Amino acid sequence: MEAQPRILVVEDDRRLARMLAEILESEGYAVTLAYDGQRALHEGLTREFDVLLLDRGLPAIEGLDVLTRLRSRGVLAPVLVLSALGTPADRVEGLDRGAEDYLAKPFDVDELLARLRALRRRSIARVPVLTVPGGSFDAAGRTVSTADGAQVVLSEREAALLEELARNPRLVFPRAELRDLVFPDADDDGVVDTYVHYLRRKLGRPVITTVRGVGYRLGAPA
Ligand code: CA
Repeated sequence: MEAQPRILVVEDDRRLARMLAEILESEGYAVTLAYDGQRALHEGLTREFDVLLLDRGLPAIEGLDVLTRLRSRGVLAPVLVLSALGTPADRVEGLDRGAEDYLAKPFDVDELLARLRALRRRSIARVPVLTVPGGSFDAAGRTVSTADGAQVVLSEREAALLEELARNPRLVFPRAELRDLVFPDADDDGVVDTYVHYLRRKLGRPVITTVRGVGYRLGAPA
């Protein structure tokens, strides 16, 4: 069974936000609410979501600015903008600035739900090619193509660990979280250190950065 999809709902109209949360929860989503742009940015950068529903007119940081900042910091989750700004020019602006879809208020609930399903299908089907220090990583093929044209093949678990880090390149992952995500059968966080060592041996030390006392994140881009 597919895991419960996680959605970040960014909407400053609290009544509408709560209504959306209720509808989405009844559709099986795990919903996180943010009522302003600052909060949305914080949630988007520190937690992982399968899809974002984003209002434009927001206190603190405007919705499309939130989107730009999330994208510039490597957050790739699909975004559906839900806004009262609904002219063709508004939609074009939203799509050009990185939204995958755009729906004007007032909206039809069934249409909103269908669009969210479509976004998630597309993002699940997308074969991810992720950027890692020194090359590009084809997670499905478990290979890293380096700048000098070499192909480095990873084991299944090496690839799974690198994929977790590369999908959220700015996030610091606690070792225990990586263990849960990649090595659920292991009873010791040391397995994470071991696989970080393997990845560094194959891809060079800078591929993963150690954050002392916390865990690991993807290395800085070369
Ligand atoms: Ca608003």
